[in-house]
Amino acid sequence: MIHDNLKINDKGNLAFANCDTTTLAKKYGTPLMVMDEDRVRSHIRTYKNAMEKSFGAKAMPLYASKALCFKGMYKIAKEEGIGIDVVSSGEIYTAVLAGFPMEKAFFHGNNKTDQDIKYAINSKVGFFVADNIEELDAIDNYAKIANIKQKVLLRLTPGIDPDTHKAVCTGNIDSKFGQAIGTNQADFITTYALSKKNIELKGFHCHIGSQIFDCQPFIDAADIMLNFIAEIDKKYGYMAEYLNLGGGFGVRYTKDNPQIDYEQNIIKISDHIKELCKKYDIKMPIILMEPGRSLVADAGITLYTVGSVKEIPGFKNYVSIDGGMTDNPRYALYQSPYTVLVANKASKKADYKCTIAGRCCESGDLIQEDVTITKPQRGDVLAVLVTGAYNYAMSSNYNKIPRPPIVMVSNGKDSLAVRRETIEDLARLDV
Ligand SMILES: *Cc1c(COP(=O)(O)O)cnc(C)c1O
Repeated sequence: MIHDNLKINDKGNLAFANCDTTTLAKKYGTPLMVMDEDRVRSHIRTYKNAMEKSFGAKAMPLYASKALCFKGMYKIAKEEGIGIDVVSSGEIYTAVLAGFPMEKAFFHGNNKTDQDIKYAINSKVGFFVADNIEELDAIDNYAKIANIKQKVLLRLTPGIDPDTHKAVCTGNIDSKFGQAIGTNQADFITTYALSKKNIELKGFHCHIGSQIFDCQPFIDAADIMLNFIAEIDKKYGYMAEYLNLGGGFGVRYTKDNPQIDYEQNIIKISDHIKELCKKYDIKMPIILMEPGRSLVADAGITLYTVGSVKEIPGFKNYVSIDGGMTDNPRYALYQSPYTVLVANKASKKADYKCTIAGRCCESGDLIQEDVTITKPQRGDVLAVLVTGAYNYAMSSNYNKIPRPPIVMVSNGKDSLAVRRETIEDLARLDV
């Protein structure tokens, strides 16, 4: 099995986080998303401990909550003592509902509306990560009305192009995000932010992309950012208090992906940062990182029920399931690889090549093409592994299909965290 929270139990069924997945499928119905809470917490602790050890006590991971957002996740972040990254009023609202201490929230996005900005200030969001000049004007304006000085980091693009899918690459100069160092726009927005009375500039942020397995792009980004920080210090006498390096560490979806040792990677990055700070003769800023995918992806699986197995002579075999692109659009969007298996036949030989198809009226509604699994039949439970990040978060109601529930398992015990959407929920907005 690709992760150690996955096992085959003595009934020959797939066990996830010490729970029989076929029992969960029976109890809650399918499609069903299952989250291994203990694994989420253990990933958070790995980051937190490694960062505190390498960068000092003030360093902190921020959970990039767009990866998977519901109240339970913010409660875990609160209990584990980490920060969060939020990107919309909706995420802020959910975090507030969960009782998250909002001074540890960082508000991102390349186009925060006036409404978002007002809402975030009223919700006492600790930090804005400002993207552009117009936004700084708006933050300054609403901060003035609220009679506060808003803490702000500036989103910069260091000009790094990591080896990842172009749809999740965000650190190059030609990006909708942030201000480029290479074009001097980063320098300009810094002086602009410093001139604003109701803005307290706290430092800089970059996020170079996602599903990155190599350390080097992060080290390169840190180098460019620290060089910039040192130059700004020299030119304007402004020393950044924070440097936020964003998220992006890769996750093992299939046997073809390596398993990253996050602790070792953080230590490697910190060794470089310490050297760089010496080289540029600056005090090391407080380092923040924003893992999303790597905290939740391998803590989640999705369970489906097989409806049909269609064999087209001379062509493909299609296994249709009771979910699809509505709960997992990542194959349709990025051709993302996944590991798939038949949960109630987990100990049987996998020798049946097929394509896993969803139930939407789209030929592109596929979960995976040409995978080899045990031959299933109607009623079998199909498990798709490593679905904790950007699956539920990207789900939709296309074809008026309700979203699945999320069940949390901890210590072998299961509990409902997000209920299944009903067809009545789907009509609740219709007037
Ligand atoms: C998406 C995103 C993250 C998280 O990226 P992962 O690849 O999920 O770790 C962090 N910071 C920002 C600004 C992002 O947009």
